[in-house]
Amino acid sequence: MGGSVTGMQRRTKIVATIGPASEDQSTLRDMIAAGMDVARIGLAHGTLDEAIERYHRIRWAAEQEGRAVGILVDLPGPKVRAAAFGEAATEFHSGSAVQLVVGRDSSNADVIEVDYEGLLDDVLVGDSLDVGDGRVVLDVVDKDSNGMKALVVHGGVLSGCPGVHIPADRLRISTPTPQDFVALDAFVELGVDMVAISFVRSAHDIRRVGTEPHPRGPMLVAKIETRAAVQNLAGIIDTAGAIMVARGDLGSECSIEELPHLQKQIIQQCIAGGRPVITATQMLDSMVSRPSPTRAEASDVANAVFDGSSALMLSGETAIGVDPTNVVRTMDRIAQRADEEFNFELWAERLAELRMTDDTTHDAASITDAMTMAAWRAADSLGISTILAISGTGFTVRSMARFRPQARIIGMSHNERAVQQLTMSWGTTPVLVKDRGSNDEMVRQAVEVARDRDFARSGEVVAVLAGSDNRSRSANVLRLERVP
Ligand code: PEP
Repeated sequence: MGGSVTGMQRRTKIVATIGPASEDQSTLRDMIAAGMDVARIGLAHGTLDEAIERYHRIRWAAEQEGRAVGILVDLPGPKVRAAAFGEAATEFHSGSAVQLVVGRDSSNADVIEVDYEGLLDDVLVGDSLDVGDGRVVLDVVDKDSNGMKALVVHGGVLSGCPGVHIPADRLRISTPTPQDFVALDAFVELGVDMVAISFVRSAHDIRRVGTEPHPRGPMLVAKIETRAAVQNLAGIIDTAGAIMVARGDLGSECSIEELPHLQKQIIQQCIAGGRPVITATQMLDSMVSRPSPTRAEASDVANAVFDGSSALMLSGETAIGVDPTNVVRTMDRIAQRADEEFNFELWAERLAELRMTDDTTHDAASITDAMTMAAWRAADSLGISTILAISGTGFTVRSMARFRPQARIIGMSHNERAVQQLTMSWGTTPVLVKDRGSNDEMVRQAVEVARDRDFARSGEVVAVLAGSDNRSRSANVLRLERVP
């Protein structure tokens, strides 16, 4: 495929979920060394205090490793779950019957307790319910005031507290939920970098979060996992800071054969909008219990890179799997090899679709749009291998990343939170720099930092994109500078 670039650094970022298998400090350090760019803390399991403890451990480990590691807290939203199946996995055989009741105590092969009060109202006879991201599929055949009877149409194994997918347009709870807001307040107070919002249906759900715009507040990541979100995608992309293709629930909401195509369409639209996009769920699922992935999983990871994903996410593989560091290392290898084969030329042909704006108002966004395109063209035609993008908010850097340039992007900001948020951006090495006044001073500092940190060699020409001064609202100056 396209222009193969061997020996380059990995461009596609890795998000890894931290859980019981990965929360100790030495594993966290090993995972960072193996390539984890962003650590995800899911709030669907465990207490808020446990999640906060994980947050502090990740910050500590990143500091020890001397690496910018973003932290993404994932608010569960109105996620419906089964009560715990206990330690051992429980097997469901196709054709067997199971009872579904409202409850939170425990589940077994005969009775699944579901933690949603509205279960008996919102689920109808004839509905098909995916449990555990489709591991077991149940058909509801009967219900009375105590519970529902379901037949197992696809048998499988369940453990822990698996999700029970109820069609999102029937769920009467809105997102974020009151519990989400409690967790959100605690993590905003701590200075979290990114917050994911589950079961978003429209841009309104994101506006309800009500945090300061990033980088003053966390970057909001809208999880696309409902049919309504797919329909309202343009507005959601416009309002959110980043997007996650949450394939677990999305695969239950829509027909499974639609999922690969939705993944491609969502990624394309995010890139056009200059938003980082994460492809998530079951990427290396078999590595929860095995030391190497299936062939299909290796292909899935590579294809998600070819689709243009900014980041790839690991869930249970690193949260509860047997060897989280091995999983990150494996994803790092597959993604880096796929990055080498990424079709930069084909991407360039699609540039017209990737424009963030087609307006002629000449506002800050359209100036940055045009200037990042100019930087991409200059770097491409001169074979420049490093682009230094200087930005207070990170906007210019994300805009630059849309073009998926062969050149490495060094995203420089004096804003610490913006640097942390750039850990999610494709092809970007985030670097904290000092605030400087004039364009001359900013560019001089950037070039020196690039040389001193071995991003560029003395004598090499680099592209530098910045504002005309540190109050400039857009990146309106492009300079091609020889490194002293
Ligand atoms: C998903 O559904 O794919 C997802 C990422 O959400 P969660 O893991 O929170 O269910």
